[in-house]
Amino acid sequence: MREVLRTGSLLLDAAMGTALLARGLAGRAPAWNLSHASAVQEVHAAHVGAGAEVVLTNTFVGASPEEAAAAIRLARSSGATYVGGSLWAGVGDLETQIAQLADADSIWLEAATSARMALAAVESAVGATRLPVVITCAMPSAPLDELRAAGAAAAGYACSPWPADARGADVVKPAADGLSPEEWARKVPWARLRGGCCGTDERYLAALRATAR
Ligand SMILES: [Zn+2]
Repeated sequence: MREVLRTGSLLLDAAMGTALLARGLAGRAPAWNLSHASAVQEVHAAHVGAGAEVVLTNTFVGASPEEAAAAIRLARSSGATYVGGSLWAGVGDLETQIAQLADADSIWLEAATSARMALAAVESAVGATRLPVVITCAMPSAPLDELRAAGAAAAGYACSPWPADARGADVVKPAADGLSPEEWARKVPWARLRGGCCGTDERYLAALRATAR
């Protein structure tokens, strides 16, 4: 997967957390990998149905070993071409969390809220796994070249705020921010790897897929 992350184009998935909240989630999302597995599976399946080639595991906030194993199984069962292990870049026990996701195809360090957090996460991840590492930042501007130099196979932006200038980003997966799927898809800057974050669902992916890649 490293090569496609470095040079290819892929449609990513849409939001998991907000999709589970809409289905009644209260508490930690990864607990649902065990207690409400069919709901998690349904969200992955809807994304793949809309064309997502990568799905990310429901482990963003950090998971127990059992929750992480279930997350990988659920993501694989979607039939997506690739499974990424998702972790917030600021999660406390990052190396343990990465080890639990060793059966994914890549590790996605998501929504870093500072350059320092992003760099620290990439450095510790590339030291902890042989899987390719992707980093996304929830900031208007991130040190993308520095993150790639630190070992990230792809670097870019996720969630909110949207990037001020997405040139040079490998990944862009913004939040819905109250936009309709069509409005959103028109606004999403071009990048090789594109998908959605909070508030987006399969309708947003379908709209994005319909725009030029
Ligand atoms: Zn988000």
